[in-house]
Amino acid sequence: MALIDSFGRTIHYLRVSITDRCNLNCDYCRIDGNELLPNNDKLLSLEETGRLIKIFTQLGIERIRLTGGEPLLRNNVLSLIKEIGSLPNLQELSLSTNALLLKRYAHDLKKAGVGRVNISLDTLNPKTFSTITRGGKLQKVLDGIATAVAAGLHPVKINMVVMKGINENEVGDMVEYARHHGLILRFIETMPVGDAGKQVSDRYIPAEQILTMIKDRFSSELIPVHQKVGSGPARYYKIGNSKANIGVISARSRHFCETCNRMRLTSTGQLVLCLGHEDRSDLRKFIRDGATDEQLKEQIIRGVSLKPESHQFNNNSHGATHQMTALGG
Ligand code: SAM
Repeated sequence: MALIDSFGRTIHYLRVSITDRCNLNCDYCRIDGNELLPNNDKLLSLEETGRLIKIFTQLGIERIRLTGGEPLLRNNVLSLIKEIGSLPNLQELSLSTNALLLKRYAHDLKKAGVGRVNISLDTLNPKTFSTITRGGKLQKVLDGIATAVAAGLHPVKINMVVMKGINENEVGDMVEYARHHGLILRFIETMPVGDAGKQVSDRYIPAEQILTMIKDRFSSELIPVHQKVGSGPARYYKIGNSKANIGVISARSRHFCETCNRMRLTSTGQLVLCLGHEDRSDLRKFIRDGATDEQLKEQIIRGVSLKPESHQFNNNSHGATHQMTALGG
């Protein structure tokens, strides 16, 4: 069984946001003072989430990433992970996290079935970290990263959103940090998603400019790596003759919609087909109306047929209003 959309793309990857809550308050992700949290009765229960994920895997989803908000804030997250980890058709279970709780959770996550983690880290400067996250403590993140490595959540990928006037001067330092700790580093372009994302549009730096910064810092050519690293959209490069690889995710300057293999499930059970469009399918309503697994499968297949050809990030008139906190990146 495979989920194939109207443009012939096979969808085998699902990102599942299990909470909109977060223990950081990044200014490009979340509007200050406006938590936009759904009421508890709108949230999918862990049982509903587990049931849907099982159905998705029966339809051909092979990779699941849990995200949020901060997924480790969801009560009993480990029990959900154990349940997902035992699904027969699943090839990979991963997690996106800000690492604040990894010191406590990393080993248990590994035992419960998480293969690897993606960690958001935009700066190595405690002051800049506190400014971007509106009060977060950098050291806790660094400790969490060290614990993830020690727990064998391999590879640990670091995602840095590079922003003009905020952290662009740290691109080279982040390469050194990642190399030193054996981490895979990816640089991400700011995306105009949600109110917060749109407000920081002026921070946008295209991936090509980020690559130039790296060439200049290391006085070195960047050699494209053709071997596939993961199933995501990053383009990877080797820095000269060194062993260091870096990736860029250029959602805006050079989009990869034609190879998009993913969709998203929000914590309230909305199936979102594209970060840049409003189209969604309300699976919670179906579940709560008593739909059978077969009926849910039909609804998911109908949802996939709505997946648009591409986002319109460079055309402001078509911007979607989804909040990144609800979509999980
Ligand atoms: N709390 C988890 C974390 O920190 O990774 C998961 C949720 S967070 C919303 C997922 C990713 O979305 C993070 O890497 C974050 O940097 C990214 N993100 C949020 N808003 C963004 C924006 N406007 N542009 C680009 N990336 C964004």
